Amino acid sequence: MSCIPKKLLVWDAHAGLFPSPDMDLNILEDWHRCNVNYLSINVGFDVMSRDETMATLAAYRRWLLAHSERFLLAEKFSDVRKAQHSKRLAISFDIEGMNALGSDINMVEIYHRLGVRQMLFAYNLNNAAAGGCHDTDIPLTRFGIEILSEMNRVGMIVDASHTSYRTSMDLIERSDTPVVFTHSNPASIWPHQRNIKDEQIKACAAKGGVIGLNGLAIFVGDNDTSSESLLRHLFRLIDLAGADHVGLGFDYTPDVTVDLSAILRARPDYWPAGQQYGTANIGHAGPDRIPDLVKGMEARGLSQFEIEGVLGANFARVAKASWSM
Ligand SMILES: [Zn+2]
Repeated sequence: MSCIPKKLLVWDAHAGLFPSPDMDLNILEDWHRCNVNYLSINVGFDVMSRDETMATLAAYRRWLLAHSERFLLAEKFSDVRKAQHSKRLAISFDIEGMNALGSDINMVEIYHRLGVRQMLFAYNLNNAAAGGCHDTDIPLTRFGIEILSEMNRVGMIVDASHTSYRTSMDLIERSDTPVVFTHSNPASIWPHQRNIKDEQIKACAAKGGVIGLNGLAIFVGDNDTSSESLLRHLFRLIDLAGADHVGLGFDYTPDVTVDLSAILRARPDYWPAGQQYGTANIGHAGPDRIPDLVKGMEARGLSQFEIEGVLGANFARVAKASWSM
């Protein structure tokens, strides 16, 4: 894979792993060798129970601490800089959906203590906290509003990816810190239900948030992983939000041995028919595309400052404001 200048801070706001305590995290080398400095990896999503999420979190923590020559478990923003200076990849965790709380608001602080620095509210379907993007469009529930203030209190990034329109707009309006869409493309370029409307993009940016470009081929187009199409999404985000409010959240999964078809068969409701999830051999653009994206942004006349923002400084700004340490 080609490299990018090492002095830049490169932030990938979300990896699209299917969390499991058995996963061999050596796959994180894919980001490390592309000179990514920070990556958020998911330890749970709404399909998993609280127990399964905790077991995954425990296994990932132990693995990362045992491989500290290459990886650094980031608890505060200065850890990201520390990892960058020692040529390691900083990792913290995210959770996709509030089922991981097991209906218990007290879990927010526990997850935070264990390294979770970002949570989204509902994974595709509605839950007790919020609306999902493939379900009836509902706002944040009373429980969701409580969770939001607890996240603001403990210092977690508030993520609106995978949620419904009304839930995302509620989050943006109510949160004390800027709300992000870590991995969501503009629906005005490819009208998938997981992609987001222009109004969501503009509202997110107006409150200081950032939208991360997603590389999963069914969210880019018709199983499309071309750099041209990725750039079309990126430029649309920049046109709507401004270059200061766009980042990277590739949702990338290296080749792993998890049998996705078994997961899809077990809970088909989370990935509804008609939304391309059944597409054979879904492609994926990941961090090795960063040089193409940089070339595209340079050709379009973005300044070095703006490009550095998209590569990492914009998400870093939200992390500094949200993590409060
Ligand atoms: Zn996701």
